[in-house]
Amino acid sequence: AQAGVEDTGLVGLPKAAKPKKAVLRIASQEGRVPGKDLPEKLAKMEAWDIDGLEVGGRGLQNRVSEINAALKNSKIKMSAICAGFDGALMSDDEATRKKCVESMKVILEAAGAIGSTGLIFVPAFNGQTKLNHIEGRKILLDLMPELCEFAQKAGTRMLLEPLNRKETWYVRLVADAASICRDVNHPAACVMGDFYHMYIEETSDMGAFISGGDMLHHVHLASIKRNLPGQDERDYTNGFKGLKMIGYQDFCSFECGCVGDPEVEIPKSVKFLRGQWKKA
Ligand code: MG
Repeated sequence: AQAGVEDTGLVGLPKAAKPKKAVLRIASQEGRVPGKDLPEKLAKMEAWDIDGLEVGGRGLQNRVSEINAALKNSKIKMSAICAGFDGALMSDDEATRKKCVESMKVILEAAGAIGSTGLIFVPAFNGQTKLNHIEGRKILLDLMPELCEFAQKAGTRMLLEPLNRKETWYVRLVADAASICRDVNHPAACVMGDFYHMYIEETSDMGAFISGGDMLHHVHLASIKRNLPGQDERDYTNGFKGLKMIGYQDFCSFECGCVGDPEVEIPKSVKFLRGQWKKA
């Protein structure tokens, strides 16, 4: 992950190949967008200048043809899949870990079939494991290679998501996630960043995304209060600068609440984000 190194002024590191020009591809979780069914939601998203769709992983195997049919009639592309598996990968209970791996594989298969960029996962929420940092990391490094190999064969990725300390004590920084994935050392071992959690944990949005580098394949968009970007004073330009430095090509997806009417507020937020991107 050396993309962006040249811009950081760090010395002693090989210069990265010139990264591609970054793009802002805005996506939204399915539930954020009003509409009676997926085709109606996709039509609204298209009209609002949104590029991608994120769906939940629970039961995804039963939705492959529905989702593919809807996407076929739309300019909207598939982005990431949000969790939906059983248990926790970093559980202290072996049976729970096994159940987690098996249920992840079912989702990964479906994720590949709808062209998704990856399955978002958190190793363990607070209360889901009794393992300490050393034991937990060992478990992750034991389980990730098999899952990453499975994901790659299915045509998708594993996306490790850092959260703030109130939700998980284990992986809180994009750099933490990147360090674990670097140890896994598999092309499908990847990371994401969430502007809501990043506001609480990171010292620099730009630094966080540079730490993710070419392993960064998804971003969640939310404000300080976890509403639509633009609904409070959260600034996105520093993070967007980081995305530009690493030549980011994947989606930035709404995972947030909304103050007011989503029919009015979502398109407003999209315009706000395009403005922030321009300024960055
Ligand atoms: Mg998130």
